[in-house]
Amino acid sequence: MRIAVVGSGLVGLATAYELSRRGAEVVVVSDRDPGAGASSNNAGWVVPAESGPVPGPGVVLQTLRWMAKPDSPVYVRPSLSPSSIRFLTGMLRACNAAAYDRSFTATAALARGTMDALDAWAADGMTFEMHARGELRAYIDQAEYRRAAADLPRYERAGLAPEALTGDEARAAVPVLSDAVTGAIRFPGERHVRPQGVVNALAGRVAALGAIQVRGRVTGAWALPSGGVELRGGFEPVRADVLVIAAGAWSAQVARLLGIRLPVRPGKGYSVDYTPAQLDMGPVVMLSEAHVAVTPLDGGTRVAGTMEFGRLDETVSPVRLRAVQQAPGRYFRTWDPDAPHSAPSAGLRPMMPDGIACIGRLRPYRNVFVATGHAMLGLTLAPRTAALLASAILDDADPDELRPFSPARFGA
Ligand SMILES: Cc1cc2nc3c(=O)[nH]c(=O)nc-3n(C[C@H](O)[C@H](O)[C@H](O)COP(=O)(O)OP(=O)(O)OC[C@H]3O[C@@H](n4cnc5c(N)ncnc54)[C@H](O)[C@@H]3O)c2cc1C
Repeated sequence: MRIAVVGSGLVGLATAYELSRRGAEVVVVSDRDPGAGASSNNAGWVVPAESGPVPGPGVVLQTLRWMAKPDSPVYVRPSLSPSSIRFLTGMLRACNAAAYDRSFTATAALARGTMDALDAWAADGMTFEMHARGELRAYIDQAEYRRAAADLPRYERAGLAPEALTGDEARAAVPVLSDAVTGAIRFPGERHVRPQGVVNALAGRVAALGAIQVRGRVTGAWALPSGGVELRGGFEPVRADVLVIAAGAWSAQVARLLGIRLPVRPGKGYSVDYTPAQLDMGPVVMLSEAHVAVTPLDGGTRVAGTMEFGRLDETVSPVRLRAVQQAPGRYFRTWDPDAPHSAPSAGLRPMMPDGIACIGRLRPYRNVFVATGHAMLGLTLAPRTAALLASAILDDADPDELRPFSPARFGA
């Protein structure tokens, strides 16, 4: 079976890997270098513990308050475009406890096999920087910490082993934390990686398995009378039996070429690498009130954050970037936002209105599939998304884990 995958981000590459490994003839079509954007400049966290979706109880009020602040962690660019209004209305509908609970449970279930999958990738010859040192969510605000500590049973039900730590216990675990930290939640089983390393390893393995990588922007897609699909753009036309759209935040554009409407919108974030490392910290640390992720990588420290709902553009807002760079100063004993660092980069997270991924067959076609909407967890969820989607395609299966993510919930 010949399968075309549009997108060479983490989701497209992982899917191409699973399909190739299982014997399919794969063509990956992508308009830029593997992993360029979100798939390489993300925080590198592999964290089933972060399965909570963006929409949740209280999010609407908080977001409205944040919209008045140019340096807030979440920003919604005002827009009267029908797709933006539809997206925000859908998000509003998902801002309740029952929807949050359902989404968390489904996403945590999808993330469950991730660590085993990463170990299997390594055993299959892929080499990349990976650390198993857990995650610590640090809190300054006591009320926020108490709310988080009261929610631990949710994580236990998901098979995680969260621990509530006092400020002093948190400092004993991560001595570089400052006295401002009043409490923390530790998730000892979480991991982190250098995302570009994972991208490179996947791209290399996919090529070694015989997949063809075609460079160019897909601007036309047709279902052929013979049952296959044809892609056109800045490359020789590509024909395949099956199409997988894994085009991240651009997936709506690609789906539209086949007359399918998907409510995927971009959620922009930024990251910066400080080299040499500024902090000796062991686990990754979430600066909870600031919503900034701090990642210790070999020889450096990466900081990442912000969620900007807006357009498909990757420009960097200096004000919002500055907020990300300064946040660690409140949580750590020493931090210099102006220490030597890389040029900042932006990435677009593919966001769905209800906050969870969109994976599965796209109606009315039998042979067109999508894998997008992984939001803040594309790295964490790519391995299981790929394995389950490969089974849906090659075994004509309907895996239980994928049911909550079906595009049918949007009528697609
Ligand atoms: C700042 C930040 C921090 C993050 N931190 C984490 C984290 O710690 N852990 C985690 O799990 N996730 C994290 N994420 C989320 C994660 O990075 C994304 O969910 C993930 O990268 C999405 O991958 P993707 O393959 O779906 O899309 P992308 O990586 O965006 O790839 C899309 C692909 O589609 C191609 N494409 C698009 N349109 C076309 C077209 N018309 N023709 C041809 N090709 C096309 C592009 O070239 C690209 O190859 C973070 C994201 C950001 C921005």
